[in-house]
This record gives sequence, structure tokens and C-alpha cells, in this order.
Amino acid sequence: MAPSISLSRPPFSSFNSISSSPSLSFLNKPSTTTVNIYHNHAAGFQTAYRPLLVSCCSNNGAPSLDPINFRQQQVSSMPRPPLGVTMNDNSSSMQKPSYKWRRVLLKVSGEALAGDQLQNIDPKVTMAIAREVASVTRLGIEVAIVVGGGNIFRGASWAGSSGLERSSADYIGMLATVMNAIFLQATMESIGIPTRVQTAFRMSEVAEPYIRRRAIRHLEKGRVVIFAAGTGNPFFTTDTAAALRSAEINAEVVLKATNVDGVYDDDPKRNPNARLLDTLTYQDVTSKELSVMDMTAITLCQENNIPVVVFNLNKPGNISKAIRGESVGTFIGRSAQT
Ligand code: UDP
Repeated sequence: MAPSISLSRPPFSSFNSISSSPSLSFLNKPSTTTVNIYHNHAAGFQTAYRPLLVSCCSNNGAPSLDPINFRQQQVSSMPRPPLGVTMNDNSSSMQKPSYKWRRVLLKVSGEALAGDQLQNIDPKVTMAIAREVASVTRLGIEVAIVVGGGNIFRGASWAGSSGLERSSADYIGMLATVMNAIFLQATMESIGIPTRVQTAFRMSEVAEPYIRRRAIRHLEKGRVVIFAAGTGNPFFTTDTAAALRSAEINAEVVLKATNVDGVYDDDPKRNPNARLLDTLTYQDVTSKELSVMDMTAITLCQENNIPVVVFNLNKPGNISKAIRGESVGTFIGRSAQT
């Protein structure tokens, strides 16, 4: 029997009432030697931004030998500030710690957005994500998000029912990710985070089309970019979209937010003695067929040397911890991580 679908819950007609974002044209000022990021001072979105000056201190130009920076140097086409930011809020300057990542790609599955599963999307979950993302964008960390759609529709589960071909089913699944993206964007903007949705296939009345260099520009301006519609191709997943977009925009890590604490050596639901693994190599994941992400996604990360952190989205503070590069969940990389 085909799985049931509950497109009518919650009232998705509410999508109709999501207004477009307030004008952000004043944010489009060219930056000179400083980078403008925008700090929401709690009041209204339209009035509350003021620029923070972020000047970047370098490690004296010394080339870094760590593999992530090496990858950056190889593939980056856009000049990027070095690690470590000094935030200068008007007159008073204060030294901030260096964060591990400057640009991250957060993958949020549809299942995670559904929260307690009573409805397709739990607004408490989208708000929790928005708040944590806001806390790190203020630090100058650039955040891109890929959203899944499994809370609404999974192509593979529906393929074959009533003559629905897999490709068509997958396109419906990709449309589901756009619904989630628009919802998440609305939540983000409701607390003052400038956000853009880019879709892998054109839906120009709803969102921008995916344009790599434009996405990077948004990130550099302190906007959160939500990538929707997966890769734009059937037979793929949004995990693969996360790996792909991450490689394209030179994100330093894929942060995979899930409903579990990380990767276990056995199914924790069946085996109470299952152990949470702190660190794994790509090789471990593929050879042991650990269900972290699909093989295409993990292979793409491996080939491009993009680490993956799998962590629990439901624990308060975890998203911001993961984005700041603090130890959380399971780290997957080329070699064991310290
Ligand atoms: N999908 C697709 N191509 C992609 C990404 C997604 O066809 O590049 C479809 C596929 O049907 C999938 C659905 O979109 O089942 C929702 O994505 P996914 O299952 O990855 O979402 P998640 O599990 O992260 O919620």
C-alpha cells in the first residue's frame, strides 16, 4: 500500500500568506577593506540593522597546510578572508576567538523539520534553527542551508503507485523541499536574518534560480542562502545536493543535522549498548556501509575532502556549536579528527 501523505496538514495554504522580504537594498553597499555584516538589535527587522565592521587579521600570510585550507586554496575562485575575525563594533574593538569554519553548509532533513511529527513542519523547530543560525551569522560565519523534503514527500516511496514514475515522484519530492525552504526563509526573516532561497530549477516567482557566484556573493554579504529543490535531478537526494553545493561554494564542512546524536556502531533503537562514534573516516563509512548519508553524497565529500559532522538538531545549542566548529556528534573526514 502506498504511504499516506498529509499535504493538508498543517494548513499549507499559509504559504500563500508569506510575504516577500522587506527591502534589503540598503544592504547592498559595496564593502571596501572591511566586510559589512548586520546585527539585529532585537527590535523590528526593517529598522534594526546596523553594520558591524569586521576586519580580518591574517596569520601573516603564511600558507596553511591543513587539508581544508589546502582545498580552499586549490578550488576557491573568490578571494576570502583568512581565519580569525576581529569584530569592531563602532568605536570599541575586541578580539574574538577564531572559529574553525568560515563558511558552512548545514543540511536539515525534512524529518528533522517535522519535530514531533504531529504535522509536516513544526514552527518551533524552524524557529530554533533560525535563532541558532542568527547567533553564528553575527560572528561572521557564512551559513548556507540545504533542506530536505522527506517530511512531505519521498520520491522512492511513491514511485510506482498509480502509474507514478520514479522521475515524476522525485520531482514532487524536490518541490517538497521548496516548501520547506520557503517556510524556513520566512522564519529566518521574521527574526531579522537576511535570507535568500535559490532553487535548482526555475521557480522565479518564488525564489532565485541557483547561480553559484550569486550564492557566494549573498554569503559574503552576510545573508543565509537556502538551497532548495535538491540537485534538480531525479534519483538523487538532498544529502547529495548538500555535498554538491558544499563543493561548489567552497564550504569547509557539511553539518548534517539529524534526530540522532551522531553515528553509532549499531542501531541504538535496537541495541542499548550501541556506542556513539566521535570520529570516523570516509573509508569507515563506505566500507562498513554506515547509514550516515547515501554513497553518492559521502563519496562526493570524500573526493572533495569536505568533512561531514553528523549531530542532533534537537539538543538546544547543537546547531550553533556545530557551526562554530565545537565538538559535537560524529566527525567524518579523511583521517581521525582531534
Ligand atoms: N530529490 C530528488 N533529487 C534531489 C534531491 C531530492 O529527486 O537532488 C527528491 C527525492 O524524491 C527525495 C525527495 O526529493 O526523496 C526529498 O529529499 P530527501 O529524501 O533527500 O529529503 P530528506 O530525507 O533530507 O528529508
